[in-house]
Amino acid sequence: MIYPWQKPVWQQLQHNWAHLPHAWLLFGAAGIGKRAFAEYLAQALLCEEPLASHQPCGQCPSCHLFRQHTHPDYLLLTPEDQDGSERKQTQIKVEAVRQVLDFVHLSAHRGGWRVVVIEPAESMNPQAANALLKVLEEPPAKVAFLLVSHHKDRLLPTIKSRCQQLALPAPSPDEAFAFVRQHYTDEARALLAFHGGVPLFTETEQHIKLRTELLALLIQPRLLALLDYAAEFDRHKLSLATFLDWLGKWLFDLALAQQQQPARYYPDYQTQLNDIARQCQSLTLFALTDRINALTPYGLHTLNVKMQLEDLLIDYLSLWQGKLKHP
Ligand SMILES: [Zn+2]
Repeated sequence: MIYPWQKPVWQQLQHNWAHLPHAWLLFGAAGIGKRAFAEYLAQALLCEEPLASHQPCGQCPSCHLFRQHTHPDYLLLTPEDQDGSERKQTQIKVEAVRQVLDFVHLSAHRGGWRVVVIEPAESMNPQAANALLKVLEEPPAKVAFLLVSHHKDRLLPTIKSRCQQLALPAPSPDEAFAFVRQHYTDEARALLAFHGGVPLFTETEQHIKLRTELLALLIQPRLLALLDYAAEFDRHKLSLATFLDWLGKWLFDLALAQQQQPARYYPDYQTQLNDIARQCQSLTLFALTDRINALTPYGLHTLNVKMQLEDLLIDYLSLWQGKLKHP
């Protein structure tokens, strides 16, 4: 399945089907369905009875294998490990790419294409990217590489130059809202705002509950409650990245409120944001935002998450009390 806002891109592909490249770079913002599009294209390439529009039939043996995630000529490479934890390494390493090389040099089990999806491509570390580059430079016949990227500026230029680039569009605000409302009936508008207008995200009850608790505290912070919150967040084994995202967006909205601009991520809290923005010092707000930006690259590494949260929340308390940050 592709998303409604991707249909024009499919039509574009369909017209150029006779000249498909062996390597693609599908790029665009996170959360707009790039991975789904790549998987659909992979299924279409592998389909044995494609429709006239080159879309996969959904019925043939290949399509069945694909849907069961057991197609022998398809490989998906992602950095995710399987322990279900949010605190995980996020690199694709060279060993994983070597596995891809073994895969593409075998002949296809079902006699057609072999397809490799790599997502996100920027998560390949330099050794992994260089190993992939070698195969992109001398691609085996009937092998398609679909690289998916949220930040194509982080890819090696040599890799980009070997791929045909295809920009995937974001949905319009109405399309995004219609989509999110199917899944989150009551909270659709608030969730869509929190995710910056992109419709594909995973939210658990646990996330929503903890974030709501955090917002209540940010409006009315008290030292002991903040420390309790840090401990509770840590007990759920959520990543520092998640917390930085939640708090960072709140500070962003506070900065907007100081400039009499409407909130971007937490529009339901406009009144409270305005009240706090009036009493907090811009310099302190910028200093705390800088700290969050500095911590962001480490957000998924194992750090002492509880201690980091305590520090950030105590700084936030000073901000809320209108104290000036002393260097
Ligand atoms: Zn098929």
